[in-house]
Amino acid sequence: MQGYIHSIETMGTVDGPGLRYVVFTSGCPLRCKYCHNPDTWDMKSGKLMTSEEIINDFEQYRPYLKNGGLTVTGGEPLAQIDFIRELFSLAKDRGIHTCLDTSGAGFSNKKERVYKFQKLSEYTDLVMLDIKHIDEEVYRDLTGGNLAETLSFLAFLNNKTDCQIWIRHVILKGYTYNTESLYKLGYHIGQYKRIKALDVLPYHNMGEKKYESLGLEYPLKDLESMSKEDAIKARLIIEAGMRDRLIHNPPRY
Ligand code: SF4
Repeated sequence: MQGYIHSIETMGTVDGPGLRYVVFTSGCPLRCKYCHNPDTWDMKSGKLMTSEEIINDFEQYRPYLKNGGLTVTGGEPLAQIDFIRELFSLAKDRGIHTCLDTSGAGFSNKKERVYKFQKLSEYTDLVMLDIKHIDEEVYRDLTGGNLAETLSFLAFLNNKTDCQIWIRHVILKGYTYNTESLYKLGYHIGQYKRIKALDVLPYHNMGEKKYESLGLEYPLKDLESMSKEDAIKARLIIEAGMRDRLIHNPPRY
């Protein structure tokens, strides 16, 4: 099977555990205002590659990726779910650790869709799930998408799969960086035992130049970047929410 691939990075250090071979797929149904990769939005902008080609290329770098593996990010990889399933299935045949970096956009509880997600999860070791906001209306404004898809995907991953889950959250002023939203996010994710890590990422405006080069208007013009210190503060608030959820609603496991 062929998939649309935007680019490949062979020594990724921030896309899962260890050093990783990172595949950026093309196509994304969201339009996040802070997206750094608007050049991945259009599916057809990518180059067609087969899953075998990617795995064979991976093998060249395998000696350097001992504690890492294969990460698929985007764009939104779930936009090509059948291709990713095949790619991950080949990877698992060769004992490669697989990680899916996703927003969960496109998840649905409809029977035939759930079946596809279930099959994919069988070959996925880790899901890095980016929750872009915890309020439905702000989520729609920030991304153009539907928060319910992300949260249903999270519940599905926790309850119906063996995947490990890492949560990612970008903080930016005027959207996610306020106590109420951060606490609410923590309180929501605090109910899920499969969550093994929380990555709080400060917004930065380095993507602005890319928009200019593509002739697009940058939606967050003049919004200041955030610091590592801001991310540490935000993380503490999210963790407080998670702890409170644990106390008020202890998991059954
Ligand atoms: S999900 Fe990712 S690729 Fe898609 S618009 Fe948002 S930040 Fe960009």
